[in-house]
Amino acid sequence: MYFPMLHQDELLYSALARCRIHLGLDSQKELLRQHFSDPWVAATTDLPNHLRKLLQNIGRPLGLDAALLVRRHTLFPLYAPFITPERRGRLEKAMVEDGESGTLGLSGITTAAVKWPPWLRLCPTCLAKMHARHGEYYWRREWQVIGANACIEHLCRLRDSRVPFRRISRYDFQAASPWNCPHRGPPDPADVSDLLIARGVRQLLSSPGAPSPTFRQWSRFYHSLAVERGATTGHHVRIDMLWQRVLSSHSSNWLDSNGLLISKAPYWFVAMFRKHRKSFSFLQHLTVWGCFRQGQDAGSLLLEVARLPDEDKLSDEVSQVTGHTDRQLFRQREKWLKALSKAGGTKRAREQGGQAIYFWLYRHDRQWLMATNASRKVEHGNHCQIDWAWRDRQLARRLIRVEGESAEDLATPRRSQTWFLSQLPHSASVEKNLHRLPLCSAFLDKYAESLGEYQVRRLTKVLINDALAGRARNKWELKRLCGLQSSRTTELARCFLQGLDETL
Ligand SMILES: [Zn+2]
Repeated sequence: MYFPMLHQDELLYSALARCRIHLGLDSQKELLRQHFSDPWVAATTDLPNHLRKLLQNIGRPLGLDAALLVRRHTLFPLYAPFITPERRGRLEKAMVEDGESGTLGLSGITTAAVKWPPWLRLCPTCLAKMHARHGEYYWRREWQVIGANACIEHLCRLRDSRVPFRRISRYDFQAASPWNCPHRGPPDPADVSDLLIARGVRQLLSSPGAPSPTFRQWSRFYHSLAVERGATTGHHVRIDMLWQRVLSSHSSNWLDSNGLLISKAPYWFVAMFRKHRKSFSFLQHLTVWGCFRQGQDAGSLLLEVARLPDEDKLSDEVSQVTGHTDRQLFRQREKWLKALSKAGGTKRAREQGGQAIYFWLYRHDRQWLMATNASRKVEHGNHCQIDWAWRDRQLARRLIRVEGESAEDLATPRRSQTWFLSQLPHSASVEKNLHRLPLCSAFLDKYAESLGEYQVRRLTKVLINDALAGRARNKWELKRLCGLQSSRTTELARCFLQGLDETL
């Protein structure tokens, strides 16, 4: 039976919708009858089921089997690593076979933590390219993930189509087309946090074989992350300190719009650094990794977690293979992480008394030691590895947005260079590296407010309020109200006041 070739990263849902158009079938039910031998299969965007039946009818196009279909053309790889291995198996089985009624429930989607976008989404520039290359549009997987609201190729915000993510009719396959993907005008620049999550999502989607760590492994991983950050006192994790770090990487606007900001250091974040008793969503994990393990691929991170011992209590038995106990291993790891965060680098940590631990770990746990040291290097200002041009563009976009949002507000504090910088994540590092950021420097030269401009703005604010209240003031009163001492009044403000005399 005819089935179109699946494009890279295309949702299976999208290929089925294209198939209906290619075959000229008006009826959705007819498509389901022909391809699934069952007119009652639901058209699910993210986690479809009955895949074995579909493959029996279409005859494995391009050698695709059910497992590959699940991994390459559904959102399974986004949920699978974060549910228990047992659930993961049940979820995959439900998708391939005729589907337990609660397929979505198995993925954790139905819990409040995971949300999906209201509409299927698109990048206008990518769509134009698809049309030029394939003569038609299709729905990509990575656009349909909440939190990843940006196109990585074109650094722009994704746009909503007119097709709901979950449709009212269960049997409705809608192909992407110029009618339901309207887009006018240039796309908006992407938010830095959206791009960070979009990259993580792409890494997860392209690591379909990534393992599903257990709750114990996750608990252990997040505890060692806190130790690595120097955010522990004895057994106690200093959540506030960690949360501050999250706030400096992601704006509270972004956290709020993605349902991640419920209160100060929200409950989900606190729970993540405690013993894991339930699954967290990919978005919650990616948000934290984006702050604490920036630069590390999501796939390699999952491998790291899955390598952690999966036992409630660390064993005191000496392993025949490695010649040491798990407890010993973890004590040494924690010691090394503490030495690293105290010294700020591998070399100094070794010089400052960490040499023996380094050698011990080098002999017994080399892979972990190398991965940990490498990830520290990326984070701690190894400037060769930072793409400054990319960073410059991202930060400049953010500055332009801050400027736009504050331009009309006469009450903002002086929008000096320091003020603009303080609106950015990692402002101290940006300030130190301004010479590497030409777009940001040009922006600041042009838009940073001088003292004179700020004084005029304060005067304007009072004058507008007076005009609205039908009030008139003496010049000295106006100056006092605006805190303009004669000695500090700038030339610009003086000219402005003089101009007032002439107009009055
Ligand atoms: Zn794009």
